[in-house]
Amino acid sequence: MNLATHYKCDDCHATFSLDKPALLCEACGGLLEIGYDLGPADPRRITDRAAARRDLGLWRWSDLLPLPRGAEPLYLGEGDTPLMPTRRLGRHVGLPNLLIKNDTLMPTGSFKDRGFSVAVGFARALDVKQAFTYSSGNAGASFAAYAARAGIEATVLVEDVANESKIAAISLSGARVLRLRYRSSLEIFAGVSALSEAGFYCFVNFINPVRHEGMKTYAYEICEALGWRAPDVMVHPVGTGGGLYGAWKGFRELRELGLIDRLPKMVGVQPAASAPLVRAFAEGKPVAGRHGDANKTVAQSIAGDAPIQGGSRVLRAVYESGGRVVAVDDNDLFEAMRLLGEEGVLAEPSAAASTAALLRARAQGWVSESDTVVSVVTGGALKQPSALAQAARPPAGTVQADPAELLRIFREGLV
Ligand SMILES: [Zn+2]
Repeated sequence: MNLATHYKCDDCHATFSLDKPALLCEACGGLLEIGYDLGPADPRRITDRAAARRDLGLWRWSDLLPLPRGAEPLYLGEGDTPLMPTRRLGRHVGLPNLLIKNDTLMPTGSFKDRGFSVAVGFARALDVKQAFTYSSGNAGASFAAYAARAGIEATVLVEDVANESKIAAISLSGARVLRLRYRSSLEIFAGVSALSEAGFYCFVNFINPVRHEGMKTYAYEICEALGWRAPDVMVHPVGTGGGLYGAWKGFRELRELGLIDRLPKMVGVQPAASAPLVRAFAEGKPVAGRHGDANKTVAQSIAGDAPIQGGSRVLRAVYESGGRVVAVDDNDLFEAMRLLGEEGVLAEPSAAASTAALLRARAQGWVSESDTVVSVVTGGALKQPSALAQAARPPAGTVQADPAELLRIFREGLV
């Protein structure tokens, strides 16, 4: 039973049929969202079906995903990543009930796979043949992989500052890569909007109404693992904010279904050097303007001087949930990478932002010791190899591979 019924416009509330691909509202140009008819749904049946289909990853929630009737899920192994208690990290930051949602273990190494699995699967079912997205790297690699599996011809506009390994990962899946020079994120969004309005199918967060349908599966997996209870706080790195917003949509749907009785505070994290949403939140504004310089932080994946559509949906989720948006500096990111490494989780700098935010959270007063806090780690360390070397401690030394020499060193306790 698929409960998705329509697209709905954020602004004019017009609704449209799901039987064709759509981006922005035909009537007013507003952002579209997928609507569901949850009224007649039997929540127990949904959770029982999901529990019985663990071999399908996030597609086990297909009752609550927009998969057209008869269409096959586009599945590369995404979803059901571990929700891990911490060994030392929680004590270190004064949060004994801290859990890490480890999305570094997704098929292309980042949380982006949740959104692209569902959005590209939906597009394939509606016979989309060509499409594009823009990316700082991880979204492009994810889009390219799912588009390749779906037989969709993919073009990725990638930020010129993206590292070579991310660009190579996109090309490896057969996508066409165009490096993008720009002075502000606003120029990127103007270009992306022009292409979308001209009819080129677009997978950019929020312009595409389906990507956060995949991101919302965070909420389902986390609440199921907690015995159908929401955490008190969910912390997520934020660039365009698709992950945070998607999860928020998922939590709200679970409450509408009666599966949880309260919602978590949603906390977004941005690099201090480039933090438009942090500034908008501090000023109590519903829309963010430009802020900072995206080239002045190591957190490449979440660095942007302006969020798409002013970040209005992300800010709304933060305000409605009683959460906030906080800034972290690069030193905090490197420390968080080391702390996560000691938990067995290797994160790229942007992915460590959610943990970096916790270093000062108790002192800042936005969490309490008894809170159940979920910190999402969004992408693996090998996504940005140069930063891995910056964060890591240097090797203890270089020695000859000589048995006597090695025995001497080990016996003297030098390692
Ligand atoms: Zn509209």
